[in-house]
Amino acid sequence: MDENTEFYIIDFDRTLADSDKLIEVFIEIADKYFHISSDQIRKVDAEVKQRGDTFLLATYVRDHLSSENRLDDWQGMEKMFIHESRALNYQLDGANELLEWMDENNKRYGILTYGDSLWQRLKLTAAGFNHVHHIIMDHKEKGRFISGWRQQDGTFNIPKELGGGVAERVIMIDDKAVSFLDYPDRPSHGYWVLDSGHELLSQKGTVPDNVTRYSNLNEVVQKLNEDVDKP
Ligand SMILES: [Mg+2]
Repeated sequence: MDENTEFYIIDFDRTLADSDKLIEVFIEIADKYFHISSDQIRKVDAEVKQRGDTFLLATYVRDHLSSENRLDDWQGMEKMFIHESRALNYQLDGANELLEWMDENNKRYGILTYGDSLWQRLKLTAAGFNHVHHIIMDHKEKGRFISGWRQQDGTFNIPKELGGGVAERVIMIDDKAVSFLDYPDRPSHGYWVLDSGHELLSQKGTVPDNVTRYSNLNEVVQKLNEDVDKP
């Protein structure tokens, strides 16, 4: 089969990257170098979540520094976070193998991530993924967004930000069930990557029947290899 008939869409948070570790490192740096106490950040985080809202960590820190006329420190904070991150590995098990598999098999792929754009951009850079084609979405309905790429002949018009071109089917890899809502039908399909031992409420749900669940990315890579080896 022509390899250019498919396009892989990969999620960032909790699929490729250890999002908890990114948060922890960011909070530690704010505390250690910029005098924003980690206890204070965690307190606000808890309050915001209690209200049912999403805590915008980077925006909170930037606004806090801005309110003290310390916007230079915000730039320093960004630089420090990216610098300190160089020595760290935020990739989840199998993430490196997955991207290597994509490159070795000449697969087209891009990252589709949802969240506060300031924080998403910082995290992508800190984790070393800023050079990968990506789109940061401000709503979590990825399936519907991808279905919108469909053209009259059934092929998908891949957005320029993800490299452009046309694909006959899309294959999404994501940890959240909600990402697959209104996701395209076969021949497109998906991999829902979620370890049953560490499920968050936000990851649970039901997925369409062209989406298969796996515990981690290593299992996904194994499955991708099996499919490639099929005569
Ligand atoms: Mg995710």
